[in-house]
Amino acid sequence: MSSRSASKDATPDLAESYAAVMGRVGAAAERSGRRAEDVLVVAVSKYAELDQLRTLVDLGHVDFGENQVQQLAQRAPQLSEYLARHRAMRGASSSGSIAPERIRWHMVGHLQRNKVKQCVPHVQLIHSVDSLRLAEELHNHGAKHDADTDVLLQVNVSGEGTKNGVAPAAVVHLLEQIDTMMHLRCRGLMTMAPHHENPEDCRAVFARTRELFEDCRGSRYAGDRFNILSMGMSNDFEVAIEEGANLVRVGSALFGTADAGG
Ligand SMILES: *Cc1c(COP(=O)(O)O)cnc(C)c1O
Repeated sequence: MSSRSASKDATPDLAESYAAVMGRVGAAAERSGRRAEDVLVVAVSKYAELDQLRTLVDLGHVDFGENQVQQLAQRAPQLSEYLARHRAMRGASSSGSIAPERIRWHMVGHLQRNKVKQCVPHVQLIHSVDSLRLAEELHNHGAKHDADTDVLLQVNVSGEGTKNGVAPAAVVHLLEQIDTMMHLRCRGLMTMAPHHENPEDCRAVFARTRELFEDCRGSRYAGDRFNILSMGMSNDFEVAIEEGANLVRVGSALFGTADAGG
């Protein structure tokens, strides 16, 4: 049953890896005293084929993420078109389908200010706000279109690996500034741990981010809806959940990597 043939049909493998990831997320949630459904899994599809995304939609998956605006702006309409067709076909006998009502897109990668206009119409949540200037650009775009945008502040806790992200000491101040922007809703924090072979080595970064998250919640600048802690990727999502993540961003554990052999 689990034989890995050279078959072109990737569907059975994706269904298996999806079930495996969801199972591991659920187990980690339970270890931290929560339920599986308390942790949102964003399928990061940068290495995936469109067909694989359709397969996940067929399996009932709702949340997808990209790290580049161009690919996101291309795929969001493709996938909603697929979903619309799928639902129309099932229409009469809707009981058989577990396809979601709608798909939610997440921008998880670095966002340049000149891409805001292209990005915002497609996304539910932008994970990567890391400067006042980007926040202002998003707010101005929202003011112009009378629309609000949900964002996370990306925090650079480790100081290594990536240049992106706000320094921990600057987080509450940026939150205070965003609090004055009516068209921006700060929903929480995001972090990326540096890559380690052993995910245990990421635990301190996740624990520190959780502390910052609680500091923000204790400040007067985080509203009721400041409740998302986005941390953990394929290599380290279980440790992140144990440290309090309620959103994980998983790519290669679902889809494989671009250069992975069979
Ligand atoms: C690619 C990416 C992920 C997923 O990475 P995997 O290790 O493939 O799970 C998560 N977050 C961001 C910001 C990414 O760019």
